[in-house]
Amino acid sequence: MALEGPSEAARAEARLGLYVHVPFCAVRCSYCDFSSGSLSAAKVERYLEAMAREASLRAPLAAAHAFSSVFFGGGTPSALSARHFARLDRLLRDAFTILPNAEVTLEANPETVREPLLEAWANAGVNRLSMGAQSFDPRELARLGRLHDAARPAAAVQLARAHGFERLSLDLMFGFPGHSAGTWSATLDAALALDPGHLSAYCFIPEPGTPLGAKVRSGAARLPSAEQQADLYEMLVSRLAAAGYGAYETSNFCRPGRECRHNLVYWLRRDCLGLGPSAHGLWRGVRYGNRYGLDEWAECLAAGRECADRETETERSRADEILMLGLRLGVGLAADDHAPEAWGTVERRYAAAFERALAEGRIEATSWGVRVASRHRFVADDVIAWLMAEAERGSARSKQRAPDADLTALGVAP
Ligand code: SF4
Repeated sequence: MALEGPSEAARAEARLGLYVHVPFCAVRCSYCDFSSGSLSAAKVERYLEAMAREASLRAPLAAAHAFSSVFFGGGTPSALSARHFARLDRLLRDAFTILPNAEVTLEANPETVREPLLEAWANAGVNRLSMGAQSFDPRELARLGRLHDAARPAAAVQLARAHGFERLSLDLMFGFPGHSAGTWSATLDAALALDPGHLSAYCFIPEPGTPLGAKVRSGAARLPSAEQQADLYEMLVSRLAAAGYGAYETSNFCRPGRECRHNLVYWLRRDCLGLGPSAHGLWRGVRYGNRYGLDEWAECLAAGRECADRETETERSRADEILMLGLRLGVGLAADDHAPEAWGTVERRYAAAFERALAEGRIEATSWGVRVASRHRFVADDVIAWLMAEAERGSARSKQRAPDADLTALGVAP
């Protein structure tokens, strides 16, 4: 049975992230609401010009820093030609310092993985590929609107390995309309047969505005029940554990040492610059989210304006984020993962809520902090919501007590 993780080494290596959003897809999957549109030479040109502007706009912030991870996400980063990808990589490396041993991940759709691109990615320092397989069942792939067939992920993995890519991850999806334990079991078999170091598996969410989400919302398609989805998750965790994959985050599993450093930057709430339409960043206590669409993002930058909504953190928002992100990790919350001042805000806001949650068995104590017990991991978000509500109730109670204290000080019985 694999340890859950993430390991101390992986947490220490996740220091500073650079996220690059590539907003193009050949077709739109039926469940997806990400910022993405069709690919054309004119749009890619517009994107690369705007990306150069955003990189030089944000570069001064990071002038004294080196990034420990880069993540090309999308959309479909693998939809860019080798020439366009090399141009994107060059403009980023001109603007930012990236550590020589940085983890550099690229999201690739299996049908796009071809030799010239693999060479371009390797030349640009990409050392980790994350492939969107989603399912290995042909009918499910069609229902999800995926372009590749069930055999293509295996071919893509083989080709990537032949080009020296050792760090490979597969994305899977479960709990969508029509999903069954039988097809899930077969998909897990097929995924494990490819022996990736890392697997991500997300439960389907019926996003508004997506074809499959709209069908679920109108009743035209039925989701598996919450119990059935929990059973599918249970199957996932136990099958992966038996194969040596630790559940180091609610939806992420890996062999020892194969954690995604870049995602740990988010989950441990370390600084990250985000570039591209819809990209989000956190830098020195300020969160920002770029304009969602390619055109509005590019227009904003062409006009010399910053293209993002900003929000400065408060003690409370920082404590809430540390809790929400950290309790999804296998190891849970660890004081040592955070600056003493940041950890202090968690203790002040959540100490009483932790006590009650421990007494009720919702969380368990560790020698480094607290965590959600592995048997409750699928409902970790419910546990987190309970803790946040409990902290709110606690602060409302202490506000109510404050006038009493004043009255007592004045010698008036409450
Ligand atoms: S390939 Fe990825 S980003 Fe593009 S539509 Fe499908 S799920 Fe969305």
